[in-house]
Amino acid sequence: MKNVKRYFKKFVEINLNCPKKHEGEHDVLERIVEQVLNKVDIVDIVSSYIPLKRVGVNFRALCPFHSEKTPSFYVSPAKQIFHCFGCGVGGNVIHFVMRMENLTFTEALKVLAEKAKIDIDFSQSQSAKDRALAKQKEELINLHKDCFEYFREQLYLRKNIEAVKYIIKRRIAKDTAKRFGLGFCPEKNDLYDRLSQKYSKEIIDLSGIFLERNGKNYCRFEGRLIFPIFDTMNRVIAFGGRIISDASAAPKYMNSPDTLIFSKSRILYGLNIAKQSKENEFVVVEGYMDVIALHQEGIDNAVGVLGTALTQDHSFLLRRYKNEVVLCLDSDEAGKKAAIRSADILYQNGLMVRVMELEGAKDPDEYIKRFGKDAFLLKKQNSMFVIDYKVKELKNQYDLTKSDQKFRFVREYFEKILIPISNEVERQEYIKKLSDLTGVNENVISKEFSKTTQKELKRIENINYFKQIQQKPVLSDFEMLKKNENYLLSLYTEWAPKSEEIKNLLTEEDFYTEDVKNIFTAVKNLINEGMELSYSMLLSFVTDESILFDLTSFSSKGFENADTAKKAIEELKVKIKTLGLKLELKAAQQQNDNLKITQILDELKKLKAGREGEGR
Ligand SMILES: [Zn+2]
Repeated sequence: MKNVKRYFKKFVEINLNCPKKHEGEHDVLERIVEQVLNKVDIVDIVSSYIPLKRVGVNFRALCPFHSEKTPSFYVSPAKQIFHCFGCGVGGNVIHFVMRMENLTFTEALKVLAEKAKIDIDFSQSQSAKDRALAKQKEELINLHKDCFEYFREQLYLRKNIEAVKYIIKRRIAKDTAKRFGLGFCPEKNDLYDRLSQKYSKEIIDLSGIFLERNGKNYCRFEGRLIFPIFDTMNRVIAFGGRIISDASAAPKYMNSPDTLIFSKSRILYGLNIAKQSKENEFVVVEGYMDVIALHQEGIDNAVGVLGTALTQDHSFLLRRYKNEVVLCLDSDEAGKKAAIRSADILYQNGLMVRVMELEGAKDPDEYIKRFGKDAFLLKKQNSMFVIDYKVKELKNQYDLTKSDQKFRFVREYFEKILIPISNEVERQEYIKKLSDLTGVNENVISKEFSKTTQKELKRIENINYFKQIQQKPVLSDFEMLKKNENYLLSLYTEWAPKSEEIKNLLTEEDFYTEDVKNIFTAVKNLINEGMELSYSMLLSFVTDESILFDLTSFSSKGFENADTAKKAIEELKVKIKTLGLKLELKAAQQQNDNLKITQILDELKKLKAGREGEGR
């Protein structure tokens, strides 16, 4: 174990660029990482966020970090790593939690240590940059907690009776107000001064809670009923405020701006409560009041988007907990348009989406108060599958008894309904539906569809193709070199402990990039001393995302035996050498070093000949 520690220290120095004077800190970090990785199973942790499906020795899922319909996210229980072939992320269980909860390395480690019931002291274990950011975040969380308590107290003070009157008017019960932590910010308050005694001006400014007017700081929520916004770990990270005076000309609702701890497009109001619901789906609504009214009536799976359009990040957030969503937006035209847009985003991101329509009320809050829970549940039961909903909305725009309108309807149906469907079975279903609606023979529609849309599909394919090309820029020689070196390192780490031959196959000279060379040396020494370095442990000390991706990617491909692995290693060696020489050649050409140029060209020729010789 002593050796492991020595080499980890090396990794930390290499990868975290920790100054030597913090040496003592590494011991703490190593110990915790070691304990956590030994005690926590990546499959348990990942499957607590997303449903995993076993495929052979690995597990597969829809990636929680990018949008996809066919799963390319893999978890290897044997190696305790994850990797997504779609968006290029990878790492061990700590990296997974970092991404999932938007945390720093140390914060994620803390979360996992708590889960594994490992007692730890973190105060000394972060890099300086990590520590500074973590400290700011922590202070912001504390500041929000203080504000939250202040607002909550204010709500029940006699002088603020207007706020309680407003709550009663909106028919929010006392225990509901308590459950959602509602509060009030009086017009006259000393919040800024109170906070100034405890927090620096920088932190108070970063919170976004205060605005400056004529050199004075005032709270942006003055005169408003306060809705604290909780993250999924039940911490207050922002606020929303509803003006309580109808006479006021100010905007009705006001939210915290995005901060270090809060992003509107990544948070759903009420999710901290709704994620525990036993229902199979979420009910997505538009506002604070809608969420609160539904929960008050026992619809405990309602969540709200905060005055923004539904985003891809929201889809990922929802998909962490449940696979189905019922959209229940406002019943005006804007609400309907938003419903279609939102439903598309959710559906494209692999969620089962239904759309629920409310009649006789402008929003869910009003609906449930007017008609009650049972009526709401019945409406929910009758909610429509997203494509059916789109068909219905489209049909309403045309009079299908008139042939010219019918033709236009068919054209739009092709474009808006049939083309976006990627599943052939589903598409057939909706071709049949179009036939039922228009009385046109199914075969005729199918024929016409393939004829008129082939061009269109081709065009979409081309667009996607070009998008892909743009996303994956052609790698430069240097990037190629680094990638291949990472592959080589990963293959070596995996196979060298198992095969004496492979262990002696590589030397430092086979690597060009300094970072990778250093890791290689440490790994080789470790293996020479008979240590089995676990893959996930190694990853803990790699901070470069591209190295992480490569290391998990290559490892997850796997080789059956030492012979095939050896062959791959030899091929990589040549590839790296070639790329290295090419880079050297470029440098020599820039310096007009003719002797060197000749030498390098010679070597390249030999390498090429050697490769072709092998091929025969
Ligand atoms: Zn992905």
